[in-house]
Amino acid sequence: MYVKPIQVPFHVLQYEALVRRLNPCAAHEDIRSLYKRAIAGYRGERSMSYPLCYLSEEDFRIFHNLRLYDGIHYFQIDFLALCERFALILEVKNIIGKLTFDTEMLQLIRELDDARDIYDDPISQANHLTDSLRQWLSKRGVFLPIRNRVVIASAAQIQVTDLNNDQIKKIVRRANLKSVLLKINKQFTEAHLSAGELDKITANLLAAHQKKMIQPFKTFKIQSEQIKKGVQCPNCGATPVEKVKQRWICRACDHHARFAYLTALRDYFLIYGPAITNSQCRDFLNLGSESTTRRLLHRTALHFDGNKKSRIYYLSEEILDEKANWSINLSK
Ligand SMILES: [Zn+2]
Repeated sequence: MYVKPIQVPFHVLQYEALVRRLNPCAAHEDIRSLYKRAIAGYRGERSMSYPLCYLSEEDFRIFHNLRLYDGIHYFQIDFLALCERFALILEVKNIIGKLTFDTEMLQLIRELDDARDIYDDPISQANHLTDSLRQWLSKRGVFLPIRNRVVIASAAQIQVTDLNNDQIKKIVRRANLKSVLLKINKQFTEAHLSAGELDKITANLLAAHQKKMIQPFKTFKIQSEQIKKGVQCPNCGATPVEKVKQRWICRACDHHARFAYLTALRDYFLIYGPAITNSQCRDFLNLGSESTTRRLLHRTALHFDGNKKSRIYYLSEEILDEKANWSINLSK
């Protein structure tokens, strides 16, 4: 069973909000290409749900995008499947083109449309993650065998520089993952954890997960003035959408959207963080009325600090996720 389900990582949602909200500039181009790469990676990960359903729901705890701290660095695991007998790490690559695994130079070379890109060797990455996880678990008194595989989710053409290198056996095509999972599962018969210990370490891993967050203004050296304000139309993307009574109406395409403001507040949350005052909210949503803004904030905030004018609201990520979920069309 999934104990940490497949979801778009938080920092990828941040990229998405910035792509929507940032005025055209060099940073916008950078963020757009980071977003494209990240969302392609995510789509590859999402496509793992089919082969992973062959792992018994009862035996396995599956974590998607688990990010742990080893005391010095963070390490991020695309998928961890954990049971009483062993742990399996899956490093997922969704890269198109011709892929060459160079096991001598420890790199991955991608050739596409006359361009050659060099990536870190995913096999070394997976081995490194295995060492980090082993240490992390042993510090908590947990010792069990850990295996890893590199899954190619795309239909890329794959070649290797050294067919005799044992490590290349770790490369698996997604279409082949089901049989690989079943084979690994059969190799381990002895339990190293009791059911209770498995529950405990599952809870520990979930509690230790630290989501990756970016600080847009620091990371990309952008200014607040470069961020587009207003409620965007969920239909055509135009800003601003105006509030007329209970509805938000787009003047460009006449689309009526009741919850369009939630997407705007979600963007605010992803770019500026959860804290927001009434006047910041009015400014961002282009609202005139303080009392209307207060009502919206009471509906979407988790809690607030302070009184009247100096009150700071804290937007709840959960509330914002519900109705505001719409993605940008990259082909535009
Ligand atoms: Zn519109």
